Amino acid sequence: MVIVLLTCVLISLPISADSTGSTLPNIYILGTGGTIAGTGSSETDLTDYTAGVLDIDSLIASVPELPLYANLTGEQICDIDSSQMTPEIWLNLSRRINELVQDPAIDGVVVTHGTDTMEETAYFLNLVVKSEKPVVMTGSMRPSTALSADGPLNLLDAVILAGSPEALGKGVLILLNSQINGARETTKTNTEMVGTFRSPDFGLFGYMDGTTPRLYRQSLKNHTTASEFDVSGLSHLPRVDIVYLYPGMDQTAIDAFIAHKTEGFVIASLGNGGMPDSVHSALLKAVDKGIPVVVSSRTGTGVCTTEESRFISADSLNPQKARVLLMLALTQTQDPEEIARMFRIY
Ligand code: ASP
Repeated sequence: MVIVLLTCVLISLPISADSTGSTLPNIYILGTGGTIAGTGSSETDLTDYTAGVLDIDSLIASVPELPLYANLTGEQICDIDSSQMTPEIWLNLSRRINELVQDPAIDGVVVTHGTDTMEETAYFLNLVVKSEKPVVMTGSMRPSTALSADGPLNLLDAVILAGSPEALGKGVLILLNSQINGARETTKTNTEMVGTFRSPDFGLFGYMDGTTPRLYRQSLKNHTTASEFDVSGLSHLPRVDIVYLYPGMDQTAIDAFIAHKTEGFVIASLGNGGMPDSVHSALLKAVDKGIPVVVSSRTGTGVCTTEESRFISADSLNPQKARVLLMLALTQTQDPEEIARMFRIY
């Protein structure tokens, strides 16, 4: 009964420490959709369901324990399968988070998001949110209607982490399956398993031990308050395309992207910068046109040390994260030396 009452108050009113005298942290939950907001027609539909159906207030209401850990306000940014995520939504989301974290009454932000492109949104936010306050992204691999749905616990964990002093200054965090990962290194590694998010080379930051966050490491790369990127006045981001390499490839895709006015290339190279000669010479022509070429790898781990001095190394960023950084870099400069510097520090 008490829980039902708390839930009703929670959905209808933003509760703050000022108005209630509560000592609980004040957490904003921004909903963007994904499987965590997805529904299927039966409890055994684990893969056949529609993502991005439930709104954020329904998600909050589905975890009656939440008000024991934080005063919550929910807000819907969008309600989509994250395959439909766009740079324009990244910009809106980052603007809203930057407004929220300026408010002294708000202690942290949780973003619910589909897992397919969560890593890109997380890395983007990691580079443009201007605050040490916790920003925690979560989602789920099973829809809300599934037997053993993972969304409710992931949401509870994310709210607890966003209200914890341990999460301050760590950059944007990704928390699913009780595993706390950093935005820069974390990638989706499995199509169906709940433990899909991993940081293959560098490991996770920590765990949720029951309701206690335990953190063991953090990233040494620049983020949030140490980032130079300011997208507050932008309505779109530069176009950057990823080219995935394979044996026998020719320059068709590269020429097509150039014809469609790409502003930068990220290459998923064969190993440590390896590429067919035809691709190499097509990319050098792109560089001659002023289009920067960043070389990452399709191997999944490791630093990419391209031997071609006119290309830029993605360092240890995978292609999809290198794309995010190149898009941001191009909002500031076209100078390859400057872009290379950014790839060393972020
Ligand atoms: N397709 C879903 C999405 O990315 C998958 C998920 O959320 O797990 O929105």
